[in-house]
Amino acid sequence: MVEENIDEIIQEILSEEKKVDEGQTEEILEPEELYECPVCHHQVSEDAKFCPYCYAVFDENVDYRMLIDTLIKKLKSLIIMANKIKLPLTEVNAHIKEAKKYAAKEDYPSGYSHLQSAYYKLVKDLVDYYKGEMSKYELMIGMNNEIRDLYTKANAYLDEWDMENFAKSYEELKVRSEEISKDLKEYLERLEEVEHAIEIAAKYNIPTDKVANIVDTAKDMADSKKYDGAVKVLSEAFTPVKSEIEAAMTSFLKLVKDEVTRDTFAGKSNAKGIIMAVREMKIYWDENNLVKVLEKMEEIDNMLSKNQ
Ligand SMILES: [Zn+2]
Repeated sequence: MVEENIDEIIQEILSEEKKVDEGQTEEILEPEELYECPVCHHQVSEDAKFCPYCYAVFDENVDYRMLIDTLIKKLKSLIIMANKIKLPLTEVNAHIKEAKKYAAKEDYPSGYSHLQSAYYKLVKDLVDYYKGEMSKYELMIGMNNEIRDLYTKANAYLDEWDMENFAKSYEELKVRSEEISKDLKEYLERLEEVEHAIEIAAKYNIPTDKVANIVDTAKDMADSKKYDGAVKVLSEAFTPVKSEIEAAMTSFLKLVKDEVTRDTFAGKSNAKGIIMAVREMKIYWDENNLVKVLEKMEEIDNMLSKNQ
């Protein structure tokens, strides 16, 4: 039985070889059927009557009215894109004006030639502009696979002058990059808070070895670009020493209580600020936000030492 399976598998593999051969022949033949558009330099099919990228006409026997309709539609959406980025349209508008004049005289080839010039100028300006914009994401490609894939996709559309699909991919790339930058920023902020809280904890003789280990785990996750995961790990960094924090907090609050009582007895207004900070500390304790609890302990401590 097992041997039969092996035979079958080998057979399947061998049949794949044939497909590979066929695929290769196709690829070798393809470039010979293509030639370079003299206007936009894209590779176009040898028997094309017009360039599908820049719409330059290669054969006068094209359906000009159909091409005019196509270009008008394309120009409309490109002009919307251009306006969004405030691209100057003087030259484009001048060509469109000329095209209308010729169309009125039913001279479609001349009218088309102006439309094509308008389209060529506009698409080229847009491609140049977005090539520049895309370079801003180059740094993030190495940081994140998802961004790299989105970048590659958007770039391919841009190379093909497919502005409609490019616009969609570019938007996706922009949104995702912003999200990832936000995650990274949040991670760095949390890390700073936790590291500071470790210093505070040490002052109150709270053991921080376990916390430091958790911070290392979060750093490893951040190294593999899992920023949101790292943030979650950091938010739980002090959980293993919660009871130690509770003990430290209890004896600390006893001191605070003595101080505040003495203050109010002496009619000092400082007590108010301390009481408010204690109230905030209680909220953080109830929320299990131990980092903020430690920060509040330090803050109250500072208020007390100013008091003396
Ligand atoms: Zn072309």
